[in-house]
Amino acid sequence: RKRDDVDAEKLEEAVAELDPKVAVESFTDLPLSAPTKAGLKSVHFTTLTPIQAKAIPLALKGFDILGAAKTGSGKTLAFLIPVLENLYRAQCIGGDAGLGAMIISPTRELAIQIFDVLVKVGRKGHLFAAGLIIGGKSLQEERDALARMNIVVCTPGRILQHLSQTAMFNCDNLRMLVLDEADRILDMGFQRDVDAIVEYLPKERQTLLFSATQTKRVSDLARLSLQDPEYVSTADPA
Ligand code: ADP
Ligand code: MG
Repeated sequence: RKRDDVDAEKLEEAVAELDPKVAVESFTDLPLSAPTKAGLKSVHFTTLTPIQAKAIPLALKGFDILGAAKTGSGKTLAFLIPVLENLYRAQCIGGDAGLGAMIISPTRELAIQIFDVLVKVGRKGHLFAAGLIIGGKSLQEERDALARMNIVVCTPGRILQHLSQTAMFNCDNLRMLVLDEADRILDMGFQRDVDAIVEYLPKERQTLLFSATQTKRVSDLARLSLQDPEYVSTADPA
């Protein structure tokens, strides 16, 4: 058997044993793959931020999450680490695996920032094909790239265009949906696009939703795309 299979199995056991109620401080306290550990080391991250400490153990275990924490609190890695790890353990890698994770961002600029973090943390031995679908290239160019991706970082309008127009593009293997800055996705009027996107995705999937605020409309969105979510927040008591 391949070494990766053995690693993934061992990690699966360790994640099953992980108790999300036990506080973690350091990334070394978590059952993470060697490539993710190496990636975190290369960017000199050792201690989890509070939102990461609350969200990552639950997300590794497959729970849906509605996370709220203010800007600058480290939400990007709170979802990128579970995306990398959950796909790694599922061996959702390479051309045949298909699209395993979709990360939706309200703006192109934010999508690019997420992608940059993904590349930085993922480049130490992870073998995923990841890409951006944010417009700015021809649909055909994006379509060809999309066909090879395991992880896509995208904006709502553009990915919906592909889902509705590209017969070849299917999301049957999709395991994870992430909505970053869900509050801004709503503020910018993308609710209907997100509803339409979700219609194309498998019902059996993990959904992670992050925002800077916990507004009522965010919980409305949660009702549409999450199943019994764990609410994690580091908001100051009002
Ligand atoms: P948010 O999405 O909540 O606004 P980001 O994910 O953009 O926050 O992270 C804010 C900053 O904190 C970034 O510069 C990021 O590199 C840094 N950061 C994130 N997690 C950690 C960590 N565990 N240790 C040190 N720095 C971190
Ligand atoms: Mg952010």
